[in-house]
Amino acid sequence: MNNQKTGRTRKQRGTIAQPERFGDSRHDPYRSRQKLPEPTVCPECGAAFESGRWMWPSVSAAAGPEVNRTLCPACQRIKDGMPAGIVDLLGSFAKARSEEIRNLVRNVEGAEKKDRPLERVMDIETTGNGLQITTTGIHIARRIGEAVSGAFSGVLQIKYGDGEHTVRVRWQRDE
Ligand SMILES: [Zn+2]
Repeated sequence: MNNQKTGRTRKQRGTIAQPERFGDSRHDPYRSRQKLPEPTVCPECGAAFESGRWMWPSVSAAAGPEVNRTLCPACQRIKDGMPAGIVDLLGSFAKARSEEIRNLVRNVEGAEKKDRPLERVMDIETTGNGLQITTTGIHIARRIGEAVSGAFSGVLQIKYGDGEHTVRVRWQRDE
């Protein structure tokens, strides 16, 4: 492991930066940073921390000015530009059918985040080789890869990072 200089981190497309400042890679720094009082509500997306997990709020959690407010891990990742998952969809097929693939990705996201507020798509970008999707959670990244390969076959690879709180998904199909 090489230590980068402190201070600004270089922004590199396509890499999952491991935030060294949190040290211990066994814990997801975005999920175990602090103990939260309950209920805590995210001022950005409205998700609530209840019964030890983030979920879409019950009426009781959302109500009342006295609830604790802090960014949920997904909104914090979006704010920091630190995706948990990167999905590369590569090859001529991805380029030719990008609209269809984008729709599929959005459908997967809709189904995932209904029950899991921390599983969201951050961005879908067109790259020289196809599409790159960044996500706030690892589960949705895997689901996107599986959905795309399920619908269009091709070759799927899934690699987890340290502590399994980051994932890199790669799918390729050439006509
Ligand atoms: Zn949020």
